[in-house]
Amino acid sequence: MTEVLTLDAAAVDRYADVLATVGAAVAGFDFAAAETLLEPIADDRWMGHVPTAGSEPREPGAASARDVSDRLRAAVFRRDGFRCSYCGGRAVPRCVLVAVSEAFPRFGYHPHYRRGAMHPAFWALAPEADHTVAHSRGGAGALENLTTMHALCNTAKSDALLTDLPVVDRLEAADGWDGLLSAYPALVEAGNTHGVRQASLRYHPQWLRLFGLQPLGPVVAPASDSVTADE
Ligand SMILES: [Zn+2]
Repeated sequence: MTEVLTLDAAAVDRYADVLATVGAAVAGFDFAAAETLLEPIADDRWMGHVPTAGSEPREPGAASARDVSDRLRAAVFRRDGFRCSYCGGRAVPRCVLVAVSEAFPRFGYHPHYRRGAMHPAFWALAPEADHTVAHSRGGAGALENLTTMHALCNTAKSDALLTDLPVVDRLEAADGWDGLLSAYPALVEAGNTHGVRQASLRYHPQWLRLFGLQPLGPVVAPASDSVTADE
């Protein structure tokens, strides 16, 4: 186990780089290769303290906007190209990280974020849908008033003057970063097949649907109507 006490932009990049290769291997159904690729970061554990503005530490994703539905969160992350609007770094949705942990249990996750049990990527990469402060024209929960932000960056932001906030950049995902969504169905399937379930039965199906993805169900025999009958 490697205890991680601080996270910076380099850590965000390192975790994103490794998980991108892991995701590609799983999407190609090369589970053994994925396990090897994950090896260098698999045993990292977050042992730091998340600085908060005078309040208790909180669980990423539970925080900023309790009035924001999961559907709206998914839309915000997609619109922002899975990039943090504070640091510009890549983000990976929490549901995808949970799927990584289910497929590869060494990649630590605990449903209640137990101290010492969590991989630092849950702080470094998982985004929240955070309220922007500029305007509330469309109401607190509206898409245009929300922005994608790393959990850790969100705490940094809360310490900053509101006027110091960077302008939200509507990234078009020009670099093709997709928050590892392209690997998400295969990760879920890998977890179902030979992993350890951490989330409820409905958790991944719901997030797959919100992101417009199809689950990779078990391979089924061709339906009878696919057999062409001789006329
Ligand atoms: Zn960030």
